[in-house]
Amino acid sequence: MDTCICRQASECKDYPRDLGCLFLGEAALDINPELGRRISKEEALEYVQRCREAGLVHLIGRNKLDTVWLGVQPGIKLLTICNCCPCCCLWRVLPYVSSQIGSKITRMTGVTVAVNDLCVGCGTCTDEVCFVDANRLVDGRAVKTEACRGCGRCVDVCPEGAIVIKIEDDKIVERAINHITSLVDIF
Ligand code: SF4
Ligand code: SF4
Ligand code: SF4
Repeated sequence: MDTCICRQASECKDYPRDLGCLFLGEAALDINPELGRRISKEEALEYVQRCREAGLVHLIGRNKLDTVWLGVQPGIKLLTICNCCPCCCLWRVLPYVSSQIGSKITRMTGVTVAVNDLCVGCGTCTDEVCFVDANRLVDGRAVKTEACRGCGRCVDVCPEGAIVIKIEDDKIVERAINHITSLVDIF
């Protein structure tokens, strides 16, 4: 998508509005061409890199809502890569939806996020930064709840470098591909 409709609707001033979702799979061929353009694998990789450099966070998976609003089928043939900021529709609703729905969005296995002793309790990470409201200030120090999905956004905003994101699993890419493959058939 040449336009991020969430940032456009929110009149976002912090992140680029011309970087939107990326869709993969056969069902993506039926997307209205006015919503974006078809690109090669190499261009897609470059696009993802641009999004990351802009500070956007990737949410990857099958999103049934996308098949509805895009009017494409079947859902199992559509993989969505969102390049999100706090304007994102999912980020906005996730703290408020039932845990049954919210639990469908999971942290990648092997990613850990922890607060270390550099934390001075400034509250930056608890101030509407987290899309699942997983940061709390307890006794003057940030604490993460189990709701954390490991997106890394609070890591980027902490002025003290007190939040550390780590990949503990050297097979993380392989496991993520296997997990997504069990849900979305784009190959
Ligand atoms: S889901 Fe993410 S990338 Fe897609 S339009 Fe919304 S914020 Fe933009
Ligand atoms: S932003 Fe960093 S220093 Fe401030 S409360 Fe959060 S972890 Fe602590
Ligand atoms: S990494 Fe930080 S911002 Fe992302 S989900 Fe976890 S607590 Fe929230």
